[in-house]
Amino acid sequence: MQTNKTTFAVKARRILPLADEKAARGSQLFGRLKSIDNAVLIVHAGQVVALGKAREIRLPGDCELTDLGPVCLIPGTINAHTHLDLSYLAEKTTWRKGFSAWLQSLIPLLPRGQIPPETLTQAIHKACQDLAAYGTAHVGNIAGSADHLLAATDDSARQAGFGISHFCECFGFAQSQDETNADLWPPFVRRDLQERPELAERVAPAGHALYSTSAEKLVRAKQFCRKHARVFSLHLAESPEETEMLTLGRGSLFEIFRQSILPEHWQAPGKRPLAYACQLNLLGARTLAVHGVDLDAQEAQVLAATGAALCLCPRSNQHLGVGSADVKTLIEENVLLCLGTDGLTSNTDLDVCQEALFLQEQADIPGEALIRMLTVNAARALGLGKNAGRLVPGAAANFCILPQQFLF
Ligand SMILES: [Zn+2]
Repeated sequence: MQTNKTTFAVKARRILPLADEKAARGSQLFGRLKSIDNAVLIVHAGQVVALGKAREIRLPGDCELTDLGPVCLIPGTINAHTHLDLSYLAEKTTWRKGFSAWLQSLIPLLPRGQIPPETLTQAIHKACQDLAAYGTAHVGNIAGSADHLLAATDDSARQAGFGISHFCECFGFAQSQDETNADLWPPFVRRDLQERPELAERVAPAGHALYSTSAEKLVRAKQFCRKHARVFSLHLAESPEETEMLTLGRGSLFEIFRQSILPEHWQAPGKRPLAYACQLNLLGARTLAVHGVDLDAQEAQVLAATGAALCLCPRSNQHLGVGSADVKTLIEENVLLCLGTDGLTSNTDLDVCQEALFLQEQADIPGEALIRMLTVNAARALGLGKNAGRLVPGAAANFCILPQQFLF
C-alpha cells in the first residue's frame, strides 16, 4: 500500500516490523517474528517516522489516522525476479506443456520493432500500478528486450512509488572483441544508459542462462558485477530440458536454440547446471540465481556454500510444467532464499505474496519463513540498503497487508 499524502497514519490489528531481523537461512527462517498488536504506523513524506502500540504513540496534530481493521501489516514486499518488458504478453504463451513449448510460443511474440512502443509501455505502466497496489516496495526486473523500455520502466516504477533494480540481460553467442565492456549491456539499453546517467546506480549486466548466453560473456558480466559491487542475476536449473541440453547436448531446448542462436560448433559442457555455473565461477556473494528447480541436496549445499541467493518462482514453474523446487531441502541446506513472480508470460499476476501463499499451501512452508523471504532475505539478495525490507523510522513507507488466508 502506498499513498502520496504528506503525513498520515494507519492502524492495524498487528504489524510485523522485522526491524531487527537479518537475512535468514535454515532454521533461522522459522524463528518467531516480533509483532506489535493494535499498532499505529506514522508516515511523513514517504518515510516511516514512528510505529508502536496505538495507546502509546502520539499522533502529530495534522495527521489523519486510517483504521485498516483486523489486518496484519508487513514491510512492503520485494519481488526479486520479474520481466516487466514482457507484460504485454500476458495470457499469450503456452502453459503446462513444459519449458520448450512455452519458449516456442514466446519467441515469435518478442518485441522486434513491429509492436507499437505505446503497447509495450502501457502494459509496463499497468503492471507497475498493480505492483504498487499489491504492497510492493522493490522489484528485481530483467531488462533489455526492446528499445527505450529501460527508462520507461524505471519511470513507471518510480511513479508507482517502489524501488527497482534492473538486470540488463545478455543473450546469445556473438563473439566480441570489445575491451571496454560496452557489449555487456544489451543493445536496447545502451541509448537509455547514455541519455539517462542517473540509471547507472540501478542497473547491472546479467546473464540469461547457461544455455543461451556465451560462457565468455557470462564470465565477464559476473566479473563486472564483482568489480562494481552489483548483483549478478542468472536463470539457473529452471527445467529438465535445460539439464538435458547442458549435460547431453540434445533435447527439445537444444533443437530450438540450434535453429536460432547456437554457434555451429557449440558443444554441451557435459555438466549439470549448478556444476557448470561453479566451473565458470558465476556463483558467490551477490549472485542471484533464479528458479533452482533442478537442484539436488548436494547441489543445494554447494550453492549455499558459495553465498549466492536463490529466487524461487513457484507459480511460474507450475504454470510452465517444469516441476518444482525442493524448498524444504533448500532450507535444510541453508540456501539464502527469496521469492519472485517471474513475468506475466508465465504467471497470472505479479503479486509476490501469492508465491508465498502457494508455498504455504503446496509445500507447507511456515509463514515466518515466507515473510522473511518476502522482505529481509530479498533485500539482501538484491543488495539493498539496511532499512530495505523493514518498517523502521527512516525506511521508505511501503507496507503490505498480508492476504487473509496467510497463516501466521
Ligand atoms: Zn525469468
